[in-house]
Amino acid sequence: MRARNVLKCAAWALALSILLASLPLYPFPEAHAAPVPSKLEGFSATVVGDVCNIRSGPDTTYSVIGSVTMGTTLEVLAYENNWAKVRTGSLTGFIAGWLIDVDLGSRGVSARVTATDVNVREGPGTDYRVKSMTGKDKVYPAEVKRGAWVRVTLTAGGSTGWISEGLLRLEFAEPPPPPSDSPGTASPSVPVQGDLVVFPVRDTLTIYANAIAGSAVVARLTRGQSARVMGAEGGYLMVETSGGLRGWVYGPDSKVVSPSDSGLQFIVSQNSWTVGKYPVSTVTATDVNFRGGPGTSYPVIGSLDKGDTLWVLDTSGDWKQVVSPKGQTGWVAGWLTSSTTQGSGTLFTVSARANGGDRTLTITGPFESAVVIPSPDKRSVIVSTSTFFNTSLELPVNAFEFDSVKVATSDVTVRFREKANYDIVEIAPGRVELRFTPVVTSLDVRSSGNTDILTIETVGYAWADVKREGNLVTLFLPGASLANEVPSCSGRSVKNVTVSPRDGGVDVAVLTTGPLAYQIKHTANSIQATFGVSGLVGKKIVVDPGHEANDPGAIGPTGLAERNVNWEMAARLVELLKQAGATAILTRQSLYATSEGPPGFAPIPGQYSHSLSERAAWSQGADLFISIHNNWNYNRSIAGTTLYVCDKNPNAAESRRFASLALSELTLALGTRDMGVRDSNFHVCRESMSPAVLVEVMFLSNPVEESYLRQAQTWDKTAQSLYRAVQRFFGTGTSISVPGI
Ligand SMILES: [Zn+2]
Repeated sequence: MRARNVLKCAAWALALSILLASLPLYPFPEAHAAPVPSKLEGFSATVVGDVCNIRSGPDTTYSVIGSVTMGTTLEVLAYENNWAKVRTGSLTGFIAGWLIDVDLGSRGVSARVTATDVNVREGPGTDYRVKSMTGKDKVYPAEVKRGAWVRVTLTAGGSTGWISEGLLRLEFAEPPPPPSDSPGTASPSVPVQGDLVVFPVRDTLTIYANAIAGSAVVARLTRGQSARVMGAEGGYLMVETSGGLRGWVYGPDSKVVSPSDSGLQFIVSQNSWTVGKYPVSTVTATDVNFRGGPGTSYPVIGSLDKGDTLWVLDTSGDWKQVVSPKGQTGWVAGWLTSSTTQGSGTLFTVSARANGGDRTLTITGPFESAVVIPSPDKRSVIVSTSTFFNTSLELPVNAFEFDSVKVATSDVTVRFREKANYDIVEIAPGRVELRFTPVVTSLDVRSSGNTDILTIETVGYAWADVKREGNLVTLFLPGASLANEVPSCSGRSVKNVTVSPRDGGVDVAVLTTGPLAYQIKHTANSIQATFGVSGLVGKKIVVDPGHEANDPGAIGPTGLAERNVNWEMAARLVELLKQAGATAILTRQSLYATSEGPPGFAPIPGQYSHSLSERAAWSQGADLFISIHNNWNYNRSIAGTTLYVCDKNPNAAESRRFASLALSELTLALGTRDMGVRDSNFHVCRESMSPAVLVEVMFLSNPVEESYLRQAQTWDKTAQSLYRAVQRFFGTGTSISVPGI
């Protein structure tokens, strides 16, 4: 939830001028700006105020000529006295510097501390808490500049803080880029080190904070700029810019190359890795100038040696834009290089498919023959082909069973994260197909306290689709097979466990003495299922992730959307409730879905909000309704957890009882400030037909809490806390402890 009346940013300016007028007149060291900002021409900036005025001049006395909203990207044309001249679309004008974050991180800007005993604060102002101290000549990667404050990266782990710009000198690692309206001139070069670098496939490549869709934007690479590959997860690659800024890029938007052979290129996606050979050219003269643009009037940015292999990106007249063996982008005179080879395009495609029981790895390419060589430890497989590479390239994958894909000499080597078991389905000219078949080797049930722990040992990564019908819980292991005779077993509350092959996998059937809660854990080469007594069997609990498709809810200072956080928390809570035997219902089915009413629900015409009445309608016949939100306030120092109920609701007393339990669990686990259980008129609390609460977990407007809200650990802790509160609310509890506590 957030305040409905949106204040104009001009009000902030007014408040600030009143504040300044009331300050004593002696010097106030943290408020001075350093005289460097003219260098910011061509940098990009993001609007951080809700709705901000664009004016005809650099002062609030100038007339308003337009407005921009939070998250809008602006091009900086000039920056002086904490006002920026900016352009967005056809609008050019001035905006106050404290309403925008100028992106320094993607340009490799460093901040050198110029004074002794300098405060590093949690936010851009002296009203923010002092986080640590720093001293003269310390140098940090600069991330953004907001007004007279600069956010810097303090540690390799990504911890950040704000330092007054008057106590810093910004050091620019590269010349300012050319104006964007004169394309074809030099691209800024970003020297990189390491085995693999990424370039944008199109004009820009967005670096995200997390490897998930809808994550906040950290920085952008423009054409010709690159970043180092640090790791991978699914279809995302973790990268580091030359300025030390880390984030994630989406594989299909990225070209991955090895500077040692720029012609060889990977494209990574969620489930396929394509290796291609692209146009290259060789330097034919000694000591050749490497320039910033296509002509001798451009500055020399390096030198190239005879025999250097260059990956050709583009040409302009007789000049070639190339990537050097060091991974640097620049221009070279075409007459000092060999003619450009025709790129043969895609060489190999290595693709994985995970579709229920069908999990395969396919390698296709221009080879006449191939041999599949398994490693004795089952941790990798080599497909040796008749096509020859003269360099090697290894790409981290870290998805499904796969750790990495490597191409070297004539071999494609696939490394697995755990021991893997597979069958060879096909070896033909141009095509090799393997099918993954985890093997179940043993079953074991161990009783511990009130729980029975079932361990299914496998060779190869296996996972379970779980179904419950009364006292029978069935774990289906797609693609799995049985090693040999696996004897059935039993425990105390687990009466009998049997394993049997079925089409496309293996069924593990668990018959229990009564309705039990369960918890599944996938470990290396095993699946562990814990069964125990639960007081939640038969309970119907509605979980309502606040906001939806076209309504992101509150937005944090660095752009995190409330809708996404609410969804992550709600989805985790529902999973825990289901495992405990409850009937748990979500009011929207995916992150970007709109909320839906229960089957047959017809909203009353003219009702206040269609979406909210759809959500509340799920409470029919439910035992509890939990709406999950995160808070927002203009005052960014406000932080904490609040529980809302509606005292007009007939179930108000029970709602308050659950709210108190939830508040104590959440503040304990998250370490947040207890802001109490409050009466409200929120639609879902008022109209719910069951006890109902609306929880505001943290404040997205608070920079520190926003950073917590980005972390999966916070989503887990929130779900676990609410789950414990549900257990306490229904009294009987469960013998299964929540994981991760
Ligand atoms: Zn909300």
